Amino acid sequence: MSHLFYQGRGRKPVLDQARGVYMWDKDGKRYLDGSSGAMVCNIGHSNPNVLAAMQRQMEKSTFGYRLHFETEASEKLASKLAALAPGGLDKVFFVSGGSEAVESALKLARQYMNATGQGSRWKVISRQPSYHGSTLGALAVTGYTPLSAPFEPMLRQMPKIPAPRAYLDGRDPRDPASGHHYANMLASAIEAEGPETVAAFIVEPVGGASTGALVPPAGYMERIREICDRYGILMIADEVMTGAGRTGRFLGSDHWNARPDIIVMSKGLGAGYVPLGAMIADARLVEPVLDAGGFAHGYTYAGNPLACAAGLAVVEEIEGQALCANADRMGERLLARLRGLMQKHEVIGDVRGMGLLTAFELMSDRDSKAPLPKGLNAYQRLVDIAYDKGLIVYSRRTRDGIEGDHILVCPPLIVTDDHLDEIIEGLDAALSQFADEIAGTAG
Ligand code: PMP
Repeated sequence: MSHLFYQGRGRKPVLDQARGVYMWDKDGKRYLDGSSGAMVCNIGHSNPNVLAAMQRQMEKSTFGYRLHFETEASEKLASKLAALAPGGLDKVFFVSGGSEAVESALKLARQYMNATGQGSRWKVISRQPSYHGSTLGALAVTGYTPLSAPFEPMLRQMPKIPAPRAYLDGRDPRDPASGHHYANMLASAIEAEGPETVAAFIVEPVGGASTGALVPPAGYMERIREICDRYGILMIADEVMTGAGRTGRFLGSDHWNARPDIIVMSKGLGAGYVPLGAMIADARLVEPVLDAGGFAHGYTYAGNPLACAAGLAVVEEIEGQALCANADRMGERLLARLRGLMQKHEVIGDVRGMGLLTAFELMSDRDSKAPLPKGLNAYQRLVDIAYDKGLIVYSRRTRDGIEGDHILVCPPLIVTDDHLDEIIEGLDAALSQFADEIAGTAG
């Protein structure tokens, strides 16, 4: 009997060891980590340089309360992130995860409005579907009803605009008219809410768990930036999944000329070595808040030296091994190979992604974009089949969480061509078995 409980009652194999892109359970079965956990382990498992940096830090100190001490580790990681972020974003606030990072951004946006005489502004507009975290504040801006519905009376309802799913709407994602079409919905939402009530817009530069590697159409991010400027609202980039090299640049935002006011990161920053997240904010926002008495927010473990030492070593690995370039190169190859699978497997209705944040969506009909029947539980079945074969991929329901299924294929950024071969072979076999099962000819 286990005393643990998470989402359900299902038991999982017990993890024993993990090295590079592979993991082994207690029975000695090997898995290829084709989703980097939950898009976390960007530099692979058990990197010796990170382990050594953690060891060195542990021998010095593992905790210094942020209101008592600054630490070299947190100072160094903060300056590294400030140097990697767009110009002006040089104030860093550390946390222990993605939801905490998002909460911090929502609260900084609000406090900035208070500090600058704009106290009527508090709403944060987001997208449907989207995922920004599971704490109540982050959940209020999350557009994913299966996770938010049970908590509705406890949530502040925040306005949502549709995510730019050009592929579903029959629009050409390369045409800037498509990007403008979706971005203009932000202007309409701000007008409908009353611009004087809106503080910020929060966006995943490339959609993650809820939309399955949704790359915005051409012109979208730039137009979003223009609209935020026009209405004096802040643009928050949720880079919890896209940050730390995942999309082929250090930050997902680096792909567009649309500089956010606040960036939040987590997953790939701690890279599975430590719980770590960061909010990187424009000094222009932070200074008035500090002048007005300080940021009324914080977590006990913020800036933990062990976490920051590990995070710094992770970022140094990303730089030292040129992992952004590898993510870019291998991501192109992975997308091409997934498109190859799409030619063979009818059930793949769309392939998309950027860098090593890639996904395919399952559909019952490519032309009409009809999803598979919900009762098939396709997303879970396909992942389970792959898991049995020793390949870990990540899946969710897409389309507002009500129907539709996508599979994220997001291996660590250290992958080689041989690993890609193994991933594609595993998926190919899993898709064939899945097709047989749903046709009723097997299992
Ligand atoms: N934002 C995004 C874009 C995410 O993908 C996630 C996690 N999937 C979060 C926020 C929340 O992060 P955490 O689970 O670390 O709280």
